Amino acid sequence: MSEPKIHPEVAAIEEDIIATRRHIHQRPELAFVEHETAKMIAERLTAMGMEVTTGVGKTGVVGLFHGAGDGPCIALRADMDGLPIQETGDSPFKSQNDGVMHACGHDGHMAMLLGAAKVLSGMRDRLRGSVKFIFQPAEEGGGGARFMIEEGVLENPKVDEIYGLHLWNYQPYGTVGAKEGPILAAADVFTITVRGKGGHGAVPHTTVDAIVIASHLVTVLQTIVSRNINPLESAVVTVGKITGGHNFNVIADEVILDGTVRAYKEENRQTIINRLKEITAGVAATFGAEIELDYREGYPLTVNHAEQTEKVKRAAGQVVGDGVQFPYLSMGGEDFSYYLKEIPGCFFFVGSAPQDREPLTVPHHCSHFDFDEQALLVGSSIWIELVIGLLQ
Ligand SMILES: [Zn+2]
Ligand SMILES: [Zn+2]
Repeated sequence: MSEPKIHPEVAAIEEDIIATRRHIHQRPELAFVEHETAKMIAERLTAMGMEVTTGVGKTGVVGLFHGAGDGPCIALRADMDGLPIQETGDSPFKSQNDGVMHACGHDGHMAMLLGAAKVLSGMRDRLRGSVKFIFQPAEEGGGGARFMIEEGVLENPKVDEIYGLHLWNYQPYGTVGAKEGPILAAADVFTITVRGKGGHGAVPHTTVDAIVIASHLVTVLQTIVSRNINPLESAVVTVGKITGGHNFNVIADEVILDGTVRAYKEENRQTIINRLKEITAGVAATFGAEIELDYREGYPLTVNHAEQTEKVKRAAGQVVGDGVQFPYLSMGGEDFSYYLKEIPGCFFFVGSAPQDREPLTVPHHCSHFDFDEQALLVGSSIWIELVIGLLQ
């Protein structure tokens, strides 16, 4: 693999991009309270001469500039929230906020997008159309994207295409993962409450044993993936927690099962939901219990649009050449999926595994998370190539 071709104007502000990342890394904030982060971003975007809107979707910030001529409106998005993790290790720019850490790389996402914004805002007389820079709160579970969409982030002007990226420690530096179609899973949560009739452990015939029923449920739920989903497609049904019972000689009256569902196709997600309903109703009838299913939809599937994925591959190819590859996929979820349900776009991965460590030893969401800062220059360069390709 050849060395990435960093855009010269990105190379010129390398120090600034890396310093920005470290500044943000030291001051992580949790979902929907990214106040200091938002303030810093708004100040920088204002200094670049952009129209800036703050407080979009609680703490989100949007920067907008118009090029010299008419053309489409392109949105680029970075997420802003850190995680409730205590950072370990002795990095010189370690988190100063106890119990909060940028352990997913969102500090890098902001630094890359600010770097690209700086370069692109200086090129605006060469561009036809407008660029919206979206700094979004609460990706880690809060669904900040949904709040920004509800508050009109894709309107005024109307956004034609949207792009997002994630630094990806599962891929080496110098690679970019891009693929059309589904790239991250739908991630849902369920709670099943089994209500039977308690009694003496030695007098079972007068009871409805919630533990026996729950045990059948756990077993039969395994057949959803193994017997109702095409084995060539990925899905997960996990019961992660069982709560119930009182004592060794008491028949339990109530058991609660908590679990998660992951699917890579909306059709499979629906199959799983339907089977959960049928199985809980069937098991309830079989044993004469009352079973309640509470199913809570999480982030939808992240599904890339074909045309926009091709545009990303072209732009990424100009930076990493043949480093554009099939992404390292996982059953994780992303709230970028909400944008992709509204308008065309693409979410892609920028390889950022630290070059001096064994592959996969520094995963996202761990307390010693770090990434290769050179990947920031790759990301900023791709943003610039992408916008030039779309608006020139
Ligand atoms: Zn994360
Ligand atoms: Zn993330």
